[in-house]
Amino acid sequence: MEKYDVLVVGAGPGGSAAARKCRDGGLKTLLIDKQKLPRRKACSGIIANKSQNYVLENFGPIPESAYGKPYHSRGMAFYFPSVGTIFTDCNCFQPYVWRNKFDHFLAKASGADLEDETLFVGLKEKGEEIEVTLERKKNKVQLMVKYLIGADGANSHVIRSFAPEVYDGMTWASAIQKYYEGRIDADNRYLYWFLVRGMGPFPWLNLKDDQIIIGCAYPVGQKSNKFEALIDFLKKNFGLSIKSEIATEGCMANTMTPLNRFFPGRGRVLMVGDAMGLMHQGGEGISCALASGGHAGAAVTEAIRQGTDAFSLYKKSVRPEMVTSLDQFNPLRMKATVASDTKGQPGLFHAHSLGDELKALRDALVFVKSEFQIKGMIGSILKNSARRFFLGGYHIPAVDK
Ligand SMILES: Cc1cc2nc3c(=O)[nH]c(=O)nc-3n(C[C@H](O)[C@H](O)[C@H](O)COP(=O)(O)OP(=O)(O)OC[C@H]3O[C@@H](n4cnc5c(N)ncnc54)[C@H](O)[C@@H]3O)c2cc1C
Repeated sequence: MEKYDVLVVGAGPGGSAAARKCRDGGLKTLLIDKQKLPRRKACSGIIANKSQNYVLENFGPIPESAYGKPYHSRGMAFYFPSVGTIFTDCNCFQPYVWRNKFDHFLAKASGADLEDETLFVGLKEKGEEIEVTLERKKNKVQLMVKYLIGADGANSHVIRSFAPEVYDGMTWASAIQKYYEGRIDADNRYLYWFLVRGMGPFPWLNLKDDQIIIGCAYPVGQKSNKFEALIDFLKKNFGLSIKSEIATEGCMANTMTPLNRFFPGRGRVLMVGDAMGLMHQGGEGISCALASGGHAGAAVTEAIRQGTDAFSLYKKSVRPEMVTSLDQFNPLRMKATVASDTKGQPGLFHAHSLGDELKALRDALVFVKSEFQIKGMIGSILKNSARRFFLGGYHIPAVDK
């Protein structure tokens, strides 16, 4: 039976960061992905400052071929029904990448043994080791590893197979994103967010390499005509005209961050990135996937070298990432903790009258009440924010028990 020190499941940013740290620590590391690489990933591909720094320090410069045009995003454009579009310049440099090329660069640069079209099927804990079952190009194989790092995204099969009670308690949103050739009256330097009812909590639009990218997300179980409603809205309000559809991407997103239900793993299995529930406002998640992956890889390396417990080390080192993620859903802390440097960003309403500001705030409240219907989410955000304000910190059950 093949043996590795570490198996990393999922060759997204979290998995590649974990694999890189393990390789740097001299561990025999296998990085697998179920898809043929390079693979597409539903994502706007905006690389926050924190992600850029992490990649530069740990993997080197992002290859030119991974960038899209426009070269960088200037910020967000918020559309309020009563006021129209308000542009916010982040005053910082956030490039656009194509995730297939960006992620493939990271996976190759991790230096680990890399296998695509290899599916994680299940695991059995056997004393100091784990027996893992994989499906390699349709053939089942077993291997023994000392540690497993689960970086298999928001709908994690690793969690489903070894902690089904955690998986069963998770709530989900579906995200769909389509790429079109056509025309639209929109500024390609901004990511648009439409605060309009009936299109889910995050209906968005951006343009990359002249492709019109339109997407929305909505809680699983709700009626799914939201994408069609968004297309109608864009036709009426932004002159969208579609010549042809280029591609469709879809994925599930979990809501572990706002519910404060992170799952960093247990025993010899460490979870990172989307799979452990880290997410920032607006769905930014590459920066925390990279950071948590790095922490998991470092914890496993140290544990194998020193004969200590990786999970205890990891819980400590990854906790600040959970705090930042909770901050990102805390209205009092959001701006101070974004993954890009927004110090020079003017206020959202800086060029608008008080009347417009009040109208936009009313639109935003109506929108939040109508679209943010995930059970327990608003209550959890309020509870966490109040605790942080009055007691100076969060209680995070996943690591503070
Ligand atoms: C629509 C949308 C837009 C977004 N835009 C941005 C953005 O602009 N900027 C940003 O920073 N973040 C953005 N995000 C978030 C970002 O995409 C994620 O946070 C990030 O990809 C998480 O990285 P990860 O490594 O944890 O998981 P992923 O990137 O999801 O990688 C998981 C990998 O695991 C593999 N896998 C899954 N199951 C198995 C299995 N059983 N066996 C083997 N392999 C498996 C998958 O094929 C995949 O390659 C966006 C998300 C969405 C949905």
